[in-house]
Amino acid sequence: MSEVLVLVDHVDGAVRKPTYELLAIAKRIGEPSAVFIGGADKADAAAEAVKGYGAEKVYVVDDAEIKGYLVAPKAEVLQQLAEKASPAAILIPASAEGKEIAARLSIKLSSGLITDAVDVQVDGDTIVTTQSVFAGSYTVEAKVTKGTPIIAVKPNAAAPEEGAGAGAVEQFAPTISDAAKTAQIVAAQPRQATGRPELTEAAIVVSGGRGTGGDFTAVEGLADALGAAVGASRAAVDSGWKPHTFQVGQTGKVVSPQLYVANGISGAIQHRAGMQTSKTIVAVNKDEEAPIFELVDFGVVGDLHSVLPAVTAEVEKRK
Ligand code: FAD
Repeated sequence: MSEVLVLVDHVDGAVRKPTYELLAIAKRIGEPSAVFIGGADKADAAAEAVKGYGAEKVYVVDDAEIKGYLVAPKAEVLQQLAEKASPAAILIPASAEGKEIAARLSIKLSSGLITDAVDVQVDGDTIVTTQSVFAGSYTVEAKVTKGTPIIAVKPNAAAPEEGAGAGAVEQFAPTISDAAKTAQIVAAQPRQATGRPELTEAAIVVSGGRGTGGDFTAVEGLADALGAAVGASRAAVDSGWKPHTFQVGQTGKVVSPQLYVANGISGAIQHRAGMQTSKTIVAVNKDEEAPIFELVDFGVVGDLHSVLPAVTAEVEKRK
């Protein structure tokens, strides 16, 4: 069975959930091989983590030489591994960094690239993806017809599957060109800890819009009861109620959680572009004619400030 390369998404060695989702997808295609690019001192723990989710092999690339450079060296690492392993596919998290690595890799390998995959299935020998395109306005089925399929997969496209793989560690020393080292990071802004899951990775997102009137207490209460991330419409962001990092939509973040709860959000096309691939959509809006109700699985006509506390209390009761 052919290897499937999975680029490990991690923060300082701590493996992030999208990696486990990619390993679950890799198992459908072939033998998952994780590619860890990071400090040698973090590699053992990371290798152990990915082994627990089915990695048969773990390529470890010590990043001492390439740390501090932008994405170009990582694309070269994957190119050289692909030339060595001839994988059936290369799976990369569809983060901003991941998509740039994927694009560069696609040129280097002269292979087809699919970004923003929300599902990946195997039909005989063919890998068929469901892809979110035009800022989430449409979903299409797509497959790669040239070279090694490179697929950038969005968070929540698959459920992580625990189950140990062989986890054989192989050190890999790439040759990084000078051209790949022409842009260097001079300062990095640490992520702000909110205590809630990251918006694009969360399994549940509870969002608020102009209908909150600027009071997100009810929205945040439900989010915390559900262990969800908090999102916002552009109207809420433009009003200064939440920072832009919370914005869902065409000019914000594109999310694809298991559950999206839209509260006091009318459902403008630009907002839909950021959330319509969510698996289940619920809306609370006091206007029964609000366009958001056209795409929901469940809708509640009512005032969010009274509906949400009642739902939150019910969730807490069932815990
Ligand atoms: P509104 O459209 O004003 O809707 C508020 C809703 O709240 C109404 O349906 C109302 O019935 C309901 N409501 C009021 N009070 C309550 C209550 N107490 N309880 C329950 N319901 C209540 N928008 C985005 O969200 N994300 C984007 O990324 C984005 N990008 C854009 C890019 C461009 C180029 C443009 C032109 C627009 C963009 N927009 C974006 C803006 C978008 O067109 C809408 O203006 C915006 O989404 C509206 O936000 P809203 O639904 O919160 O507000």
